[in-house]
Amino acid sequence: MYINGEWTSAWDGGRRPVVNPANGEVVAYVAEGTMQDADRAIRAARRAFDEGGWAETTAQDRARILFRAAEAIEANAAELAALDTLSCGKPLRESEADVTDAANCFRYYAGLATKPTGQAFDVPAPSQTFVVREPVGVCGQIIPWNYPLLMAAWKLAPALAAGNVCILKPSELTPLSALRLAALLEEADIPPGVVNVLLGAGPVVGNALAESHLVDKVAFTGGTVTGRKIMQAATGNLKKISLELGGKSPNIVFADADFETAVDYALFGIYVNTGQVCSAGSRLLLEESLYDRFMERLVERAKQIRVGDGFHPDTEMGPLVSAQHLSKVQQYIALGLEEGARLACGGSRPAGLPERGNFLEPTIFVDTRPDMRIVQEEIFGPVLVVQTFKDEEDAVRLANDTVYGLAAGVFTADTAKAHRVIKRVRAGITWINTYHPTYNEAPWGGYKQSGIGRELGTFGYEEYTEVKQINVNLAVEPTGWYRR
Ligand code: NDP
Repeated sequence: MYINGEWTSAWDGGRRPVVNPANGEVVAYVAEGTMQDADRAIRAARRAFDEGGWAETTAQDRARILFRAAEAIEANAAELAALDTLSCGKPLRESEADVTDAANCFRYYAGLATKPTGQAFDVPAPSQTFVVREPVGVCGQIIPWNYPLLMAAWKLAPALAAGNVCILKPSELTPLSALRLAALLEEADIPPGVVNVLLGAGPVVGNALAESHLVDKVAFTGGTVTGRKIMQAATGNLKKISLELGGKSPNIVFADADFETAVDYALFGIYVNTGQVCSAGSRLLLEESLYDRFMERLVERAKQIRVGDGFHPDTEMGPLVSAQHLSKVQQYIALGLEEGARLACGGSRPAGLPERGNFLEPTIFVDTRPDMRIVQEEIFGPVLVVQTFKDEEDAVRLANDTVYGLAAGVFTADTAKAHRVIKRVRAGITWINTYHPTYNEAPWGGYKQSGIGRELGTFGYEEYTEVKQINVNLAVEPTGWYRR
């Protein structure tokens, strides 16, 4: 682990294996942190914030370090991408894209650090009032396994730019690239205690971050069930929270859409990163008149997706992250069949791949009903559920019919219709005639039970700031309110 500028083992010497999901082999052992380690990291971060001077550094100094970090990420791109493919399983080209995005995230926030913030108000004389943004303080940042490096960048870059100190808790399944990133930040001259990487089980060290009264903010990306626990744990000192949670996002295709484009993005929407994406287009909503033709092509193409080891150059879809997660997704497939849905393709483990790899075929369920659990719940795997709609009204109704509100896509040649539908969909991230592009500049987050707050862009930066109003008396004299 990396605590207070030092590389350290767990307090009790505990270790945990990191497993390659493509073949079940142990690729590394990492420290398994305990409550004592969490306490150590929290105290180090507290000291770094209260006494270390990071919050008082100039924005230019912080920007310089973040720019250096971006360059270091790019200089070590091949290694960082390999670490993510090794522990998370995603095809190397996806890991490489994540590394580029992570470097750009640091660069974006390095730039933003020195840009104007705050406001000044024309209040009644003799006062002048203005507002400045200051860092929140010690931030506990808990991230999942589906984008190990990128999630670390999304958390660290804005927090550091704003002058916070961070305790990053990567997923126990995928800690390798976050550790490497900490080493690169160290080389970029981040002061001791400003970035700490705390390893260990979520319910132990993650919960400690959410509970501690010495932590000012907890930022979490992951499942909604865990998000709810973190929110509860954070009540003790009413810490600031931001939660980026799950989804069951609708991808709506009207009959007038560009056919091949819509088919292509329906596949990309669900199968990129083996469906382990919070914003995955996991519900395909098809206009009834398009259904037969679309499904024929979709199934034909889904069957052609090459599943395999992420390091193999031909691989288009990797394994699921862990045997446990594969089993959870398989249980959903069994449940879908029990509920009466029909498999249009997939549902099994592909032949010819290592037994101990967590592989699953691209899977599509049809003949679904809106009340089925496979339609309502986040499966977080390569499992698409298809629904049909009669008209625009019906499409909007179905799109909004879940507890989630993270993302949505619409495919149509009718621009006005696309905008009408998007306006009525209760989701934070939306796409017209595309699915999945994400930009550091634009806010990321959901409505409803998909989370609280936003990441990325200026919105994400503001989440790591407190707002202070400063009132200046321009006529320095007594009030005259009380008799002298
Ligand atoms: P979690 O959401 O539980 O894990 C995400 C992070 O939270 C990990 O670092 C985890 O640590 C940590 N964590 C777990 N429990 C706690 C806790 N009580 N307090 C503080 N931190 C905690 O994901 P899972 O791997 O358990 O996956 C469960 C489901 O969540 C998935 O099937 C999927 O549906 C959804 N999910 C959604 C993601 C998204 O981006 N929206 C990402 C990942 C999962 P540790 O690794 O040690 O458990």
